[in-house]
Amino acid sequence: MRMYDIIDKKRQGMALSDKEIKYVAKNCFTGEIPDYQLSAWLMAVCIQGMDENETISLTKAMRDSGDKSDLSVFDGLSVDKHSTGGVGDKTSLIIAPIVASCGAKVAKMSGRGLGHTGGTVDKLEAINGFNTSLSTNEFINQVKKVGVAIVGQSGNFAPADKKLYSLRDVTATIQSIPLIASSIMSKKLAAGSDSIVLDVKFGSGAFMKTPESAKELAKTMVQIGKACDKKICALITNMDVPLGFAIGNSIEVLEALNVLKGKTDTPDLSEVCINLAANMLFLCFGITLQEAKKQAINAIESGNALNKFKEWIKAQGGDVSFIDNPSLIFAPKFTVDVFSKNEGYIFCMDTEAIGKTACLLGAGREKANEKIDFNAGINLCKKTGDYVKCGEKIATLYSSEKKDFDYITEYFLSTLKFSGNEVTPLPLIYDEIR
Ligand code: URA
Repeated sequence: MRMYDIIDKKRQGMALSDKEIKYVAKNCFTGEIPDYQLSAWLMAVCIQGMDENETISLTKAMRDSGDKSDLSVFDGLSVDKHSTGGVGDKTSLIIAPIVASCGAKVAKMSGRGLGHTGGTVDKLEAINGFNTSLSTNEFINQVKKVGVAIVGQSGNFAPADKKLYSLRDVTATIQSIPLIASSIMSKKLAAGSDSIVLDVKFGSGAFMKTPESAKELAKTMVQIGKACDKKICALITNMDVPLGFAIGNSIEVLEALNVLKGKTDTPDLSEVCINLAANMLFLCFGITLQEAKKQAINAIESGNALNKFKEWIKAQGGDVSFIDNPSLIFAPKFTVDVFSKNEGYIFCMDTEAIGKTACLLGAGREKANEKIDFNAGINLCKKTGDYVKCGEKIATLYSSEKKDFDYITEYFLSTLKFSGNEVTPLPLIYDEIR
């Protein structure tokens, strides 16, 4: 088989065979196929697309290119949730203990933040002592005992995706639904859970800018999951506005904790979490969605989810004193209030740029392995649809270091657009794909 012929076939818009796709996935990360041919192939796929069979073949071939978790010991009760990423998305910290306290098994691998989006692993590492790199045995034993473990992705999961993703990143070939869907699903399938709930985000802070494109991506990922015998569904959720009010690492851990404590001051975050958790329980136990929602709400109201959170954090070496004493996790040296220069309804927020504001404060990284400041972040006081008076406090910025706060304040203010008319924000949960 020649890579040249495979590129040429795709360039002409023809569907590739399973054998041809397997050839690419198997040889892309070994040095056998040079980067210039892989890049040409990726561009051809990006422009010509892939049909359902090709997308499923590529996903399976990338899944099989490296290590795979075996979660069969959990007798069909292992469940995972994947978010396509966003700003203020701390849902994993809330959902994992909810569903584990209801008897499901959450054996989850999560990522670090990159660019404007945050990552669960960074948020967990904001907790003093929390260990995100357990051995396979430790990981499985903890899930058996506690019902939940979340670790960073180990080195050799889906190496074919790792290689192709790194090339896509520098060849303007990220924006392709078959490539995004196969990339995400290959890693989720290698991680091995029996049930998967996808949180596919749309809006200014998401990969997919419109609800329609998020829905198309969700449909493709659900098709792939079904073809691989997984119980799977997707919610299409709003990332046109940050989720909750807190953006950063320590500050998001505290906001997640508030939801687990039953506080109701972040209704958007609570609603998304309850719906995602309910869908995980629905897939996992085969109960009705209504019953699953009742169980998820009860897990919070009874305190079971909070107790499970403490048990989980302790099991991974984390110091839980911050649960009663927030200053042990969040004590920024610099605090700067931001006041509005406009009056009116917030018409829209550039959520990606708000994520970048948090990065400017030190909460995120532009390049992998950069160090982050767990105390850095933003607390929003107002969001899309809210009325703001001129001079009213609109947000607070936090950092451990003295930054150019005047510049960052102006940058943050430029992310907000105002209108004299009332604004109806887009729905929080736009659709579901089953
Ligand atoms: N996340 C991934 O893992 N892959 C993509 O292609 C896009 C987002």
